[in-house]
Amino acid sequence: MSRVSAVRFSHFLPSLLLLLAGLSAAYVKDLNVFFTSLFNVLPTLVLLLGGSYCAVYRRQRELFLMITVYIAYYLLDTQTDFYRDHGRVREDAAVVFHLCCLLLPLLFSIYALWQEKTHLFRDFVARGAVLLAIGSVALALEQSYPLGVLNWLAEIRWPVLHGAWMSLIQLSYPMFLIGFLTLAAQYWYQPRPLHAAQLVGLLGMFWMLPQTFILPFTLNIMCSQVMLMIAAGVAHEAYQMAFRDELTGLPGRRALNERMQRLGRNYVLAMSDVDHFKRFNDTHGHDVGDQVLRLVASKLSKVNGGGRAYRYGGEEFAVVFAGKTVEECMPHLEEIREIIADYDIKLRNMDRPQDDQQGRQRRSGSGASSVSVTISIGVAERQAEQRTPEEVLKSADQALYAAKGAGRNCVVAAGQTRRGAVRMERAAG
Ligand code: GH3
Ligand code: MG
Ligand code: MG
Repeated sequence: MSRVSAVRFSHFLPSLLLLLAGLSAAYVKDLNVFFTSLFNVLPTLVLLLGGSYCAVYRRQRELFLMITVYIAYYLLDTQTDFYRDHGRVREDAAVVFHLCCLLLPLLFSIYALWQEKTHLFRDFVARGAVLLAIGSVALALEQSYPLGVLNWLAEIRWPVLHGAWMSLIQLSYPMFLIGFLTLAAQYWYQPRPLHAAQLVGLLGMFWMLPQTFILPFTLNIMCSQVMLMIAAGVAHEAYQMAFRDELTGLPGRRALNERMQRLGRNYVLAMSDVDHFKRFNDTHGHDVGDQVLRLVASKLSKVNGGGRAYRYGGEEFAVVFAGKTVEECMPHLEEIREIIADYDIKLRNMDRPQDDQQGRQRRSGSGASSVSVTISIGVAERQAEQRTPEEVLKSADQALYAAKGAGRNCVVAAGQTRRGAVRMERAAG
């Protein structure tokens, strides 16, 4: 599967909605008491719920991301409360604010990029140590040399690059930029909902910081939203693990079972199975077999006529057409069967070339080996006597069996005789 096809807008959608909700809420003027009380407790509530959720599922990276956001929230909230109560900022407001502008993107990016690889406890200690080290050094410097630290932070180092719109310290911008670029690269190489959430979360904080003292509840709202994005990312991945097949990226058996409970009165179920796949595996190896399953899945997922493909298990795939008749579905299934049979699969893993040049030569020259596979499909429509989707699936399975008997590489509808089966010549021997 190419990288672009693995990038999904749905990975970003929950976080973008949360960001949008946060932006709209931050701009609301004259909030009533209900909302002001809610926003005061929201960050702590989200940390407690989201943090314990991450802790229970041992997602330490996300736990530390939330803790980082919460610490920044706590430090800045103390300042905004003082400002609201006294009409002026506290003496240490500037240095605390500037430190947050520098350390929040730094720590957030470090934790976001730091994947959990080692032993859980060691990982926890290492993450805690980083937080402690950076936090205590910053605190010690700020306590010992408040003015020196402030001047160092606020210094405009590159006057040419300084724009009038920049309301944060200049150092904060490269920090955010590096964070964005590395998190974007991380998403590109591993397109996961959580990596998308981290990217949008950093964007939310970049928007939030300059507004901290301007819009009253920006801090509470945006910190809560960023923590929610992370929790939602964890939940999204848990859902994917349960309902998506990892090898092919198609929804799996559990998702099919759920879909089957929500089918209306008319629908068609198709069962497809790769022909002689055991032989294929034995000849070319399991890795090449996996590549073929990915290919078949990607072709089946593009079936027309409103069909939705699921990996039923092994080399079997189910396609669900809601609100359709067999006559309407047959041409689309035929089309997909033909596309798969005509497709030349280039074998990438076999005899892998030593270097790129050799590989290019081999792909362009006659040395490139290609194979093809075929699938057989059995189709069944809901009938008056078959009331449950399980019964319809069983008929589709029987039709598939008939398709295998009819010589494979064909589509057979339940009730169709072998003679009448839509039969095609086998493309692959
Ligand atoms: P037929 O045309 O009758 O369907 O023959 P077949 O060899 O495809 O049928 P059979 O069900 O006996 O073989 C299924 C094979 O699919 C067995 C197993 O090696 C292979 N298989 C099942 N799941 C996977 C998988 O995830 N990856 C790979 N590479 N092979 C798989
Ligand atoms: Mg099989
Ligand atoms: Mg098979």
